[in-house]
Amino acid sequence: MASEFALLDRVLPLLDPGPLAGLLVPNGDDAVVFAPTDAPLVLSVDSQVEDVHFARKFFPLDVIAGRAFAAAISDLAAMGATPKGALVAVHLPASYTDSDQDVLFAGLARAAKRWGCPIVGGNVSRAPTLVLTTTVLGTTPRPLRRSGAHPGDCVQVAGTLGAAALGLAAFLRGAEGEANRDAALEPFRRAFRDPEPKLAAGLLARGQATAAIDVSDGFVQDLGHLAKASGVTIALDPSLVDALAFPLRAGAAALGIDGRHAVLHGGEDYALVVTARELLPGFFPVGTVLAADNFPVGTVLLGEVPVEGQGYDHLLATAR
Ligand SMILES: [Mg+2]
Repeated sequence: MASEFALLDRVLPLLDPGPLAGLLVPNGDDAVVFAPTDAPLVLSVDSQVEDVHFARKFFPLDVIAGRAFAAAISDLAAMGATPKGALVAVHLPASYTDSDQDVLFAGLARAAKRWGCPIVGGNVSRAPTLVLTTTVLGTTPRPLRRSGAHPGDCVQVAGTLGAAALGLAAFLRGAEGEANRDAALEPFRRAFRDPEPKLAAGLLARGQATAAIDVSDGFVQDLGHLAKASGVTIALDPSLVDALAFPLRAGAAALGIDGRHAVLHGGEDYALVVTARELLPGFFPVGTVLAADNFPVGTVLLGEVPVEGQGYDHLLATAR
């Protein structure tokens, strides 16, 4: 690996956000000074670790970078925030060539542009495995919280559920051949490879939703977090869950996976779940918020039966 300074000389022009409103001291000093304060600041950080969150054998480095960036952006979407800027810490194994590094940083630059979240600073260091830590800054006049769901609210989803889990399964089994080449699985491979945080849905929900969370670890698990924060239980309608599983049926059959299980427990979809009095445009209804009378706070029911979140453990859960 070339020196850190040589690397920075190459990649900084790639990442340069150009003139940016509120960027008072740009990258190149000991720290940047940034005042994107048209509204309260929303801050979040996410780390993606090789062989924990991703495996290098599945994707080129620009795709890995794009997924890491999208995961961080999804938390801004879940707060109803508009992205303003990002700091990226990149830990690189010494074995990476200049070309590896260029591909990685090109992926970061592309993701920053795509999600309107310029990289204003960061850090590069060596490490035994690739680690990408993305700190995102956004603003919102009205943050969407996990804690405002009311009994009677409609539970609703923007984006697909379970598709990324099928995609991961296709990649894991593809090493030996069959499933990965199946063209019918391409939409699911794409969902896993190229997640789309629901920024527009988050902005739309901002004035109307009572609570929100993004689905990163699994629908039931993340919904349980929302229910607990709101002091309620949530009942999913089994027929609506099956409707969400309907687009998965061909892929689920090809992979021998239960589509309903993928919807309820698959991770890394980066869908947005909100609760609101009314069904919001672009959202799909999936259940109802209930008072926590008959079940403990935080319980998620499928129909009338409690269903446990399965603590989707990203890559390793399925790779083992
Ligand atoms: Mg989140």
